[in-house]
Amino acid sequence: MTCRKIDGKAVALAVREEIAVRVAQLKEKGVTPGLAVILVGNDPASEIYVRNKGVACEKAGMRSETVRLPEDTSQEALEAEIERLNRDDGIDGILVQLPLPRHLDERRALNAIRPEKDADGFHLLNAGKLLEGEETVVPCTPKGCMRLLESAGVEMTGKEAVVIGRSNIVGKPMALLLMNAGCTVTVCHSKTRDLAGHTRRADILVAAVGKPGFVTKDMVKPGAVVLDVGINRVDGKVCGDVAYDEVAEVASAMTPVPGGVGPMTIAMLLQNTLEAAEKRA
Ligand code: NAD
Repeated sequence: MTCRKIDGKAVALAVREEIAVRVAQLKEKGVTPGLAVILVGNDPASEIYVRNKGVACEKAGMRSETVRLPEDTSQEALEAEIERLNRDDGIDGILVQLPLPRHLDERRALNAIRPEKDADGFHLLNAGKLLEGEETVVPCTPKGCMRLLESAGVEMTGKEAVVIGRSNIVGKPMALLLMNAGCTVTVCHSKTRDLAGHTRRADILVAAVGKPGFVTKDMVKPGAVVLDVGINRVDGKVCGDVAYDEVAEVASAMTPVPGGVGPMTIAMLLQNTLEAAEKRA
């Protein structure tokens, strides 16, 4: 079987071009979408992510603000900063870069963001709306995965979908989105018995584990569509959770790493911010 590469880089580029057009239209009405990113401490990986988000915003014509707070910032000081941005009419999206230093309460900080400005979709109210199947701000990575499935023309109704990973930011919202799209969904995790027995039933398989080469050929049903969310570093090189070359022998379509889900995450962050600005306008 020939495996089609789902080119996340190309889809993300098209989404970002479309966003830039909509941003320009909003600006004509006097509204410039704005995203604020709060970075606490000096984690090098977070520094890179935050810089990339700022650059992406500016390229799309949006306003970007990065708030840098010291490692020893108190919960109160962090929430005061969030509240300042909640009240800033020029800011449509607020994102707290995770992970936060251990002394800070992540859940409290995320819930301090006004739900309409919750660019990451991590506020409990937005998570609850997703659970109910209501329209809401959807977390960027699973939203990007859904967009990739749509752009690849994958029919979802009635399909068996298996998600490996149950985190609040990827696995769980991914499972809900697939369920809302009409799939029969199984969520696997570190305590799952006979993992391959589950994954081999999947027409759509999503790997969000964080272990390089975790999904092997024997775990994949012939003809399955495989989305690789993992970002791992091996000998300085970025790779996903799926052993790409061998799985490509059986899958019908698959996202590469890099160049698959990753670029979609930033594109969806811009889209969430734009949609909030459109509501403001
Ligand atoms: P996480 O560590 O919170 O969750 C990992 C999940 O994998 C857990 O639910 C755990 O139960 C499951 N797991 C671990 N070992 C397992 C096993 N042996 N069998 C079955 N399940 C097992 O991670 P996360 O935040 O959900 O991220 C997952 C991966 O996706 C990471 O590599 C992360 O870097 C990447 N990620 C990528 C993007 C992107 O933009 N592409 C965004 C977020 C996360």
